[in-house]
Amino acid sequence: MAMPHFQVHQPKSMEQVLDLMSRYRSGMKILAGGTDLMMKMHHAGLQVEHLISLNRVEGMRTISWAEGDGLVIAGGARLSDVGKHPEVQKNYPGLAYACSVMATPQIRNMGTVAGNLVNAAPSADTAAPLLAHGASLVTVERGARRQIQLKDFFTGPGLTVLEPLEMVEAIRVPAPPPRSGSAYMRLSARSKVDIAAVGVAGFLNLDLQGRVIRCRLALAAVAPTPVRCFEAEQMLEGQVPDEELLLRVGASCVRSCKPIDDVRATAAYRRAMVQVLAQRVLMQCLETAQEDAS
Ligand SMILES: Cc1cc2nc3c(=O)[nH]c(=O)nc-3n(C[C@H](O)[C@H](O)[C@H](O)COP(=O)(O)OP(=O)(O)OC[C@H]3O[C@@H](n4cnc5c(N)ncnc54)[C@H](O)[C@@H]3O)c2cc1C
Repeated sequence: MAMPHFQVHQPKSMEQVLDLMSRYRSGMKILAGGTDLMMKMHHAGLQVEHLISLNRVEGMRTISWAEGDGLVIAGGARLSDVGKHPEVQKNYPGLAYACSVMATPQIRNMGTVAGNLVNAAPSADTAAPLLAHGASLVTVERGARRQIQLKDFFTGPGLTVLEPLEMVEAIRVPAPPPRSGSAYMRLSARSKVDIAAVGVAGFLNLDLQGRVIRCRLALAAVAPTPVRCFEAEQMLEGQVPDEELLLRVGASCVRSCKPIDDVRATAAYRRAMVQVLAQRVLMQCLETAQEDAS
């Protein structure tokens, strides 16, 4: 399929981005890494006349971390930079892992976390670890700014609550409290360069007696959107986890998914792997949280 004719704009400030968005309205799209957008324009017939690039916008690639505020990933920050960031590796190992194993090095050097979320594929690899960490999106449009919890962001495959003239300025991820652990595990038909067939992410925070104060569990590639497993989370809170409880929590995660049969896996395989990965993810979270306590 031939690439449609389009114009690329290179604004240098957020102000200019918002001006261009309101000038070109329905004929425009934000261009971050282009790794999803260009594919859709080239292979799926998406017509866009004006691409508004984030590449030269000041501050759009920054990743910052502060003990009190947590992590802030700017809307144009590259997957590879997020995956290599020492504070991300230390405090958000599941996110660092997702950003380091998804796609290929070339795609990770171009692609962004914001682009991965706005593209809203059910299998988006950064979505599950960010859901597990309770992340939110800071969005802007002319004259307005709002914060959207990531759990409320996805509405269907390729669909989000973003308004047509609204863009993601940054992703905020709370700092994990002491005695917490997190992890992300994914399975794909091929071990490398393949979209996930199943992804499970978890976050646990323990009290001094080893009881779970807070738990978040999230799944990718097993429902029309990335999903949280609220029932499973509640089963763990207030409990000292043991093998039998983790088994029941895994079964509850299976109840949160609505998988389909496709080229990557059958629905039955996906359900079976959600059970297995949920238990493994929780074991890893527990080990890290217990080490964090000692
Ligand atoms: C070979 C290949 C392998 C891949 N493997 C994986 C994989 O294993 N796992 C996975 O999850 N994904 C994978 N992807 C998909 C893709 O690389 C990721 O989703 C990537 O993170 C998209 O980021 P981007 O910056 O390139 O987004 P873009 O393509 O630039 O944008 C995607 C969408 O988001 C919008 N957008 C981007 N930034 C913003 C913003 N700040 N505010 C508002 N809207 C915005 C764009 O307008 C567009 O609609 C793969 C892609 C390819 C080509």
